[in-house]
Amino acid sequence: MGFLASKRALIVGVVSQRSIAWGIARAMHQQGAQLALTWQNERLQKRVEDLAAQLEAVACGPCDVSEQGQIEQTFHRLDEHWDGFDILVHSIAFAPRDHLDGPYLQNLTREGFLTAHEISAYSFAALGNAARPRMQGRSGPAMLTLSYIGSVRAMPNYNVMGVAKASLEASVRYMASDLGPQGIRVNAISAGPIRTLAASGIAGLKDFLQQMEQRAPLRRNVSIEEVGNAAAFLCSDLASAITSEIIYVDCGYHAIGAV
Ligand code: NAD
Repeated sequence: MGFLASKRALIVGVVSQRSIAWGIARAMHQQGAQLALTWQNERLQKRVEDLAAQLEAVACGPCDVSEQGQIEQTFHRLDEHWDGFDILVHSIAFAPRDHLDGPYLQNLTREGFLTAHEISAYSFAALGNAARPRMQGRSGPAMLTLSYIGSVRAMPNYNVMGVAKASLEASVRYMASDLGPQGIRVNAISAGPIRTLAASGIAGLKDFLQQMEQRAPLRRNVSIEEVGNAAAFLCSDLASAITSEIIYVDCGYHAIGAV
């Protein structure tokens, strides 16, 4: 029996087999969790439904987080399957592609800044707020989001997404502080770079991956399986005293200085 047996997890952010959310879904499934997955829009429905079927997950319908109504409908649909759940995973981010190429200020627009923050940071608080009443009274509930070191260092081309990730990480601390008295833990994983659909929108991804191989203490990149395993642990009762943390799963890259 896995260490997530009897847990139910809503995972938002699967779009392909390369998604970090897919690595998390598989790791949680291996540890015995029941899962529910959403998709961003109709175009992705069939693909995510097929992936959900592989893990016997509830296919929980569309959830475009830019629409408050869709967030509410997602949870109402979930209520038809579950009378509460234990784990919320938020694994989504978006910024206009031209904002992720070149100097930060050069292509920055008010609209791009607001979009990046709405989809990549606000949405975690919005989903957390809707999830909160459904997680109350459960044993050891936990929320998790995904961040990147660009929140605390100025990384080339990451730009407005780094600023949004800083906001997201601050939100982790405020949410953990709010929800801790109800026993709900809130954490983030700051993952090393991984070739996914979202990451391929960032100029110079190849250089980020190469830097990791050359400089990270473990001299290699991370996999979605490794991020998934860390996520499964953080959302389990094995991590019962860990909240408000940003845990790096990046082969130690965050700890090194310039060479
Ligand atoms: P991905 O492309 O597989 O996943 C991104 C997800 O965001 C997709 O499922 C997409 O549908 C969803 N999304 C975007 N806009 C949305 C919206 N309006 N409503 C609902 N969903 C929306 O890429 P990924 O790399 O697995 O990204 C998952 C998370 O991991 C992101 O927060 C990303 O910033 C973070 N992260 C990625 C890396 C990396 O190098 N890949 C590193 C660290 C952190």
